[in-house]
Amino acid sequence: MSERSGKKKSALNVRPGVEGGHDGLPGSVDNAGSGSSPRRRAMTTDEYVQGVRSGDRTLLARAITLIESNAQNHQAQAQEVLTALLPKRQPSIRVGITGVPGAGKSTFIENLGGQLTAAGHKVAVLAVDPSSSVTGGSILGDKTRMEKLATDENAFIRPSPTAGTLGGVARKTRESIVLFEAAGYDVILVETVGVGQSEIQVRSMVDVFLLILLAGAGDELQGIKKGVVEIADAIIINKADGPGLQAAEMARSEFERVLHYLRPATTGWTTKAYACSALKGEGVAGVWQMVEEFGELGRSSGTFEDRRREQEKMWVRALVTEGLADRFAEHAGVAAVRAEMEEKVARGELPATVAAARLLDLFNKPTA
Ligand code: GDP
Repeated sequence: MSERSGKKKSALNVRPGVEGGHDGLPGSVDNAGSGSSPRRRAMTTDEYVQGVRSGDRTLLARAITLIESNAQNHQAQAQEVLTALLPKRQPSIRVGITGVPGAGKSTFIENLGGQLTAAGHKVAVLAVDPSSSVTGGSILGDKTRMEKLATDENAFIRPSPTAGTLGGVARKTRESIVLFEAAGYDVILVETVGVGQSEIQVRSMVDVFLLILLAGAGDELQGIKKGVVEIADAIIINKADGPGLQAAEMARSEFERVLHYLRPATTGWTTKAYACSALKGEGVAGVWQMVEEFGELGRSSGTFEDRRREQEKMWVRALVTEGLADRFAEHAGVAAVRAEMEEKVARGELPATVAAARLLDLFNKPTA
């Protein structure tokens, strides 16, 4: 909540060991090769806009770095860049991919991404990794993943923004999607680890959502709550190869059966179950065919655009809520009595409702 406010900002975004540019931006760590650039001058908004539109990878990387910066002057410029690029976006499909560590997400994306670029698509791979903001370490970003895709010039892999709350990380990812679409990327893959709120965040920024599971690992082992199955448009049982083939097929048909009883995540779409081997690349094309069918069906029925419009509106509301919470936390009048009021509530001397009403009254009063 506080990541966009207060003094914490500037310190949070600097990655140790990555040299900052002349414009004060930390270097990027994507596969655009821009991380090692020496000192560089600040770019104008127009340069960012033209650079992104021309598809220049280095400038695209710098534009993402601008968006990810928490410094106020960078944020102001980032918003100008986004406003200019918003109407310039290419049609795209945004695909969310979740699953616990080890389920095979990066192997799947490596294989799928390669097939897509070979077919002429431009593929962006983004990540929302809440572990990086909680622990400082990262589940998705640190190891070398997707080695082949990382050298593919029609693919752009961007690790999760590391600083800030999950809400802040999600905002940066959403804004990066705008940049990628303006740069002509037509397939946006957003990966996240299946740990709680991050799937909900990713679901709210993509068109179609895939859940990668392993057969026989047990629901609780995989950290899969029923709620995650309910927001998925397809369940993919991975590692359907070698000794795991039969179990994967069984899990797939079991899911297929159960899914009939669940409310689908997308109106007019029946959630489907697939088995694949990301390692061997078997069944991956079938999953993509389903994604394309999903897109075609949604576009012709209008649900595709309806969802995107609704997502944008929800995002505005979420940003306003977050902004209000930040201002409330910073309000001097509130801060002066808040702890004491909370104590009184904790001791049973004051109803919570009364305390909240008084604090909100204080918040509404203009500060001197
Ligand atoms: P992630 O943590 O979800 O990104 O999982 P990874 O893609 O890193 O895969 C975890 C491990 O499972 C790696 O050792 C992969 O080689 C292996 N793996 C991934 N997909 C498959 C598959 O389809 N079959 C088999 N047998 N192994 C796989």
